[in-house]
Amino acid sequence: MHWVGCASSNFRSGRPAGFKPEAVVIHIAEGSLASVDAWFNNQAAVVSAHYCVGKNGDVHQYVKEEDTAYHAGNPIRPAWKLLKRGVNPNFYTIGIEHEGHAGDVWTEAQYAASAALVADIAKRWSIPLDADHVVMHREIYALRTCPGSQFDRSKFLALVKTVPANQPT
Ligand SMILES: [Zn+2]
Repeated sequence: MHWVGCASSNFRSGRPAGFKPEAVVIHIAEGSLASVDAWFNNQAAVVSAHYCVGKNGDVHQYVKEEDTAYHAGNPIRPAWKLLKRGVNPNFYTIGIEHEGHAGDVWTEAQYAASAALVADIAKRWSIPLDADHVVMHREIYALRTCPGSQFDRSKFLALVKTVPANQPT
C-alpha cells in the first residue's frame, strides 16, 4: 500500500453523520496508475477514489476510508438494489479504481491485489462479500461501461473469499 493522497477539492473530509462504508464500488480508470495519481492531485478534477490498483498489483491510496471520495455520485438508471434513493452513493461506499481501459483483460496480479484489498476493507467495515456489496460502477451510473467488459465479478468474489484472514495488504 502506497499513500499518495489527493487534492483537497477532490474529496470530503469525513462522511455525513450516520454514514459509513457499506459497499465497495469497482471502477476502471481509463488510464495508467501514474495518470490517476496526477488527476486526483489536480485541484480541477473534483473526482477521486480511495484506491487505485495497478496492473502489476501495486495499490495506491488517495483518500482515507473514513473520508468521502468522489467516485460514484449522480446515479443514472441505477440497477444496484441497495442504492439509497436520493442519497449520494459516495457517502456509504468505498471506491476502487483499476489501472487500464474498459476493454483490457485484467492481469492476475491486479485481480489478486484488488481481492486482497477488498477482503481487508470488508473485514474492517463488516461488509458482506457478495454482488450486492461489491458493486460495478455501471450498476449506479448506466451511461458508462465502468469497470469495463473484462471484469469478472464472479471470479473476483471467489478470489476475495480465498484471501486469508489477517493478511496484511
Ligand atoms: Zn467508474
